Amino acid sequence: AEGRDVEIRTERVETADGEPVEVAANIGTAAELEGAVAQGADAVGLFRTEFLFLDRETPPDEAEQLDTYVEALDAFPEGRVVVRTLDVGGDKPIPYIDAEEEENPFLGTRGIRRSLGPDAELFRTQLRALLRAGAEGEGDLAVMFPMVATVEEVEQSLDVIEDVRAELDNEDVDHEVPELGVMIETPAAVFMGEQLAERLDFFSIGTNDLTQYVMAASRQNEAVSHLHNPRDPAVLRAIDQAVDAAHAGDAWIGMCGEMAGDPELTELLLGLGLDELSMSAVTIPDVKANIVDIDTEGAREFAEQALAASTKDQVTQMLTDNT
Ligand code: PEP
Ligand code: MG
Repeated sequence: AEGRDVEIRTERVETADGEPVEVAANIGTAAELEGAVAQGADAVGLFRTEFLFLDRETPPDEAEQLDTYVEALDAFPEGRVVVRTLDVGGDKPIPYIDAEEEENPFLGTRGIRRSLGPDAELFRTQLRALLRAGAEGEGDLAVMFPMVATVEEVEQSLDVIEDVRAELDNEDVDHEVPELGVMIETPAAVFMGEQLAERLDFFSIGTNDLTQYVMAASRQNEAVSHLHNPRDPAVLRAIDQAVDAAHAGDAWIGMCGEMAGDPELTELLLGLGLDELSMSAVTIPDVKANIVDIDTEGAREFAEQALAASTKDQVTQMLTDNT
């Protein structure tokens, strides 16, 4: 599909046999909302809130965050906006928050680990802004936590949400508890998928990090980039397991890593059972164009073959033969 002129579809799409698939945009700032709508995004599947905290000396306060989240929700009055809570650490240091140098930052205090530890105050402020935005904005808010590895982290996060909800209640401030989910970025989250899904509404697979942790190959190191490949059957099997766990626990599951926006992989991803794909806005028209031609049964068979492969080269060959 790449390279050809594809039509921009602003309407939601379904597969040739009538299965709806949500196609959403990844954004980092409110400035990207307009482009996402213009490319035909049904929703925002990943709002990376780190960008609100970058290039400044102090964190944005509750009022400023509230404005930004409401702006995003108002841009998608009929859709969903999935906001990820602050994901600092690893490849995303924010100097005034994250001053401590760790020897191995990707295996250190990043994502939800910071929000439940040193950044607890920032986490509360962000959640207050989010619960308020859920009541004020037009679209449907969903909130997800990054880098989750354990059920305890989810339970602690849900406790903080409950605390913030009670606080807003006491203050008589309008608020609404959004849909709640986690990113699937660690092998531990895949293995504990059923227990996580029982406690949550949705998952979103972050394949950039999931690939790095499944393959033990840094997403930033050229020397191991041949291993950091989401076509590897090991990664596909992790995705398959996460999808089964989500659905067994009555949760929906999307993907917001870069893999989701590769038009070559759309059929494989639908075959694996993903309910939503979220990507940078420019690839949305190509992916929507692919979806309307896909037959779900055929996609499932194709995914089964890919899951049975022994190497990523075999998967790549199957993808080539399939186009
Ligand atoms: C991911 O890890 O795939 C992801 C979407 O999150 P980020 O790239 O922001 O780490
Ligand atoms: Mg990530």
